[in-house]
Amino acid sequence: MNSPVRHYNLTPHTTFGLPCKAAYYTELHDEGSLNAICSLPEFDRNTVLWLGGGSNIVFAGDYHGLVVRLATKGIKLMAEDGDHVWVEAQAGEVWHDFVQYTLAQGWSGLENLSLIPGTVGASPVQNIGAYGVEVKDWIESVRCFDLDTMQFVVLGHDDCGFAYRDSLFKQAGKGRFVITAVRFRLNKHFSANTVYGDVAKILQQQGGEITAQAVADAVCRIRRSKLPDPKILGNVGSFYKNPIVDAAVAERLLRDYPNMPHYPQTGGKVKLAAGWLIDQCSLKGHRIGGAAVHDKQALVLVNCGHAVAADVRALSDFVCSQVLQRFGVALDCEPSWLPENV
Ligand SMILES: Cc1cc2nc3c(=O)[nH]c(=O)nc-3n(C[C@H](O)[C@H](O)[C@H](O)COP(=O)(O)OP(=O)(O)OC[C@H]3O[C@@H](n4cnc5c(N)ncnc54)[C@H](O)[C@@H]3O)c2cc1C
Repeated sequence: MNSPVRHYNLTPHTTFGLPCKAAYYTELHDEGSLNAICSLPEFDRNTVLWLGGGSNIVFAGDYHGLVVRLATKGIKLMAEDGDHVWVEAQAGEVWHDFVQYTLAQGWSGLENLSLIPGTVGASPVQNIGAYGVEVKDWIESVRCFDLDTMQFVVLGHDDCGFAYRDSLFKQAGKGRFVITAVRFRLNKHFSANTVYGDVAKILQQQGGEITAQAVADAVCRIRRSKLPDPKILGNVGSFYKNPIVDAAVAERLLRDYPNMPHYPQTGGKVKLAAGWLIDQCSLKGHRIGGAAVHDKQALVLVNCGHAVAADVRALSDFVCSQVLQRFGVALDCEPSWLPENV
């Protein structure tokens, strides 16, 4: 395999578009090359970054280690019965293209997750979710390269520690497992999930039969109307997780803000809407340097053109401090800041 490229410009491989160079950069096109990558003199298990579409990473500065972009391709039907198909996609497949492919085959399940940027390989990392569906609901197993043993291993759904925007791959397995493929169990018979009112409303407007493709189209319409296109305005989608608080905290807030959106969770917890909390602080459009809170969607921080990491950091700190001051609720960043602890 070729030597990694030095001082490689990573900016085009990220959706936020902040300035960033990698000390070394290479691409993985075949999982069989993983051993060779791990034998490179530039490889250091503690500093290597496994990169997908760069849509959930904020680079706080140049990256001093080796960056390996997962670019493996392939989608394969592994098995089927009367109700389900088991389909495996390689890590470097573009997530939305994969969803579209499954719908074109008549397989349903992933339609609510349409148009989420990034790769198939990253989808289990933060257990991507949207419009009432999480990818964990459809994952059968995850194929990984285990850097502890230098062997491939298949982790079953229950081994992956899936939770809200979280998984083993962000916790104990971080830095250990490189995800090389994901196997999904999808439905042959469609049943719509329209728990989110917006989706039901658009479907009604669209008229006609409610198919998985119609749900996907409705989701795409909503997303395009609400979220900035990273190709036009750099962003990483939701910048904060929706905070999950104790019921007592939610009750206290509801006394002062009876219209506050809140979603009861298992275990007596309540999920709040981070975007609503930020919006109540009148922060839409608030700008520091080249970074701003999006003027239509308070949950999204955007790169107005020439943002640097310090602008984004200052803006994010300001947003968090305002929400904490007003509601007593701490916001947690959804994307990873890299290098860490900056
Ligand atoms: C406009 C916009 C909208 C978004 N909407 C949503 C949404 O609705 N729901 C949602 O959940 N997310 C959303 N996101 C966030 C993002 O799209 C997802 O988190 C996505 O899964 C990230 O994929 P990626 O390939 O870009 O990962 P990257 O940003 O490249 O990587 C993210 C993390 O995963 C790790 N990683 C990546 N690939 C692998 C691999 N193969 N093996 C091991 N580790 C790996 C990286 O090291 C990094 O820590 C949105 C982002 C944008 C820009």
